[in-house]
Amino acid sequence: MKSKRMGRSNFKLIAQYDARRNEYSVWKHNLTEAQALEAVAEHSARAFAIFIIDQKQKHKAKEVDVCKACRADVEREAQLQPQPKFKKKTKARKKTR
Ligand SMILES: [Zn+2]
Repeated sequence: MKSKRMGRSNFKLIAQYDARRNEYSVWKHNLTEAQALEAVAEHSARAFAIFIIDQKQKHKAKEVDVCKACRADVEREAQLQPQPKFKKKTKARKKTR
């Protein structure tokens, strides 16, 4: 997941990619590199396919679920084909499948 990084900010966001469903969700944004690494370590026990994305700039939205900048950054940096769908990370996981 390397790409040319032009004028990146110091902010990072963390996303989780579900390859089976081709979906991703953003966990946190506006993190420093240290915070991002910490958050990844914190979640690594139960998580998979976590990645840290460089943000182009600081995002204005407070909640990642409504943050369009997160999606733009993930889609730009991740360069996954076909493009994964964004999935809200909200806890309302009532899917009985
Ligand atoms: Zn964001």
